Amino acid sequence: MAVPISQMWTVATYVLRQRWSGRKRYPLVLMLEPLFRCNLACAGCGKIQYPAHILKKQLTPEECFRAVDECGTPMVSIPGGEPLLHPQIGEIVEGLVARKKYIYLCTNALLLKEKLHLFKPSKYLSFSVHMDGQRDHHDFSVCLEGGYDKAIEGIREAVSKGFRVTTNTTLFDGADPNSVRAFFDEMMQVGVESMMVAPGYTYEKAPDQKHFLGRARSRRLFRAILANRKKSWRFNASPMYMEFLMGKRDFSCTPWGMPTYNIFGWQKPCYLLQDGYADSFAELMEATEWAHYGTESGNPKCANCMVHSGYEASGVNFTFSSLKGLWATAKATMTLYPDHGALDLLSQPVKPVHAKNPLVNIDVPQTALEETHV
Ligand code: SF4
Repeated sequence: MAVPISQMWTVATYVLRQRWSGRKRYPLVLMLEPLFRCNLACAGCGKIQYPAHILKKQLTPEECFRAVDECGTPMVSIPGGEPLLHPQIGEIVEGLVARKKYIYLCTNALLLKEKLHLFKPSKYLSFSVHMDGQRDHHDFSVCLEGGYDKAIEGIREAVSKGFRVTTNTTLFDGADPNSVRAFFDEMMQVGVESMMVAPGYTYEKAPDQKHFLGRARSRRLFRAILANRKKSWRFNASPMYMEFLMGKRDFSCTPWGMPTYNIFGWQKPCYLLQDGYADSFAELMEATEWAHYGTESGNPKCANCMVHSGYEASGVNFTFSSLKGLWATAKATMTLYPDHGALDLLSQPVKPVHAKNPLVNIDVPQTALEETHV
């Protein structure tokens, strides 16, 4: 089972309650960033390029609990930075478990083995380990030789002690689908509960700007990776979001689906962009100009985005929007997506297109957009 039934039930009843109450915009997962400092300096990261005085700051457990209570989501993801560097991370997780929140503590796992004593195994707690592929690829991606082996050591230790462990993989241009598929086999053998994959977002602050994927290339890559899948692979993502990645469905972004809280406050509009901050969750929902965001808005910052923090909630909404959505999701969980041409697509060129941003009247450079369908 990719996700425990109790978690699926909690999420399903939460979403149905929101829909039945007529709430138009509701959050699904709180992205709680307790700090930005990290013990890695990955080339594709947009979170760690802050000045030293910002990197020294962190949220207190009370600030974390206030944000979680304000937002009310059934799931809380704790990214960073590296959350295991927070001196009170054990206290923060304990407080969230007491609130019966399903927690994904995102970690590079370099410190997992030595910090495991801070936590107790619980159905509410999963370590979501950042693994970018097989050994060489992962070490290159996180700019650390031996990073893969250290993370695997942490995963094995956590699994052996009865903790839930999932993986979280970001793919960039040039990723080898066969290697990614072999990586899935490795993770299943190590004993992780399930895996999540998503394309990297083009962070303006990331040191490596050359290897971010356009939408058409993302869809081809994900079709090559996720078609013809093995029965043994378990994924921790909405089946509809995975079909979106493969180019089988189109969704609008749901930027409020995974709101972000960090040392600056509630981040507008989503986990990836920083167009200001709100003092409260209510202010974030009321004061953000949501129409200015999402690929269809013409906003160049959203042009190539297919990241789960914008589109996973769209997939979940679709599932619960109608019987058709429920049926499509049930079907998707049972199919292995046989597709003989999936790998060949990657060698075909993609056509660039030109667009004008209607909201801010800026011409989007041709290189920023690609045709959106495979
Ligand atoms: S498309 Fe991506 S960057 Fe734009 S609002 Fe949605 S999640 Fe954020």
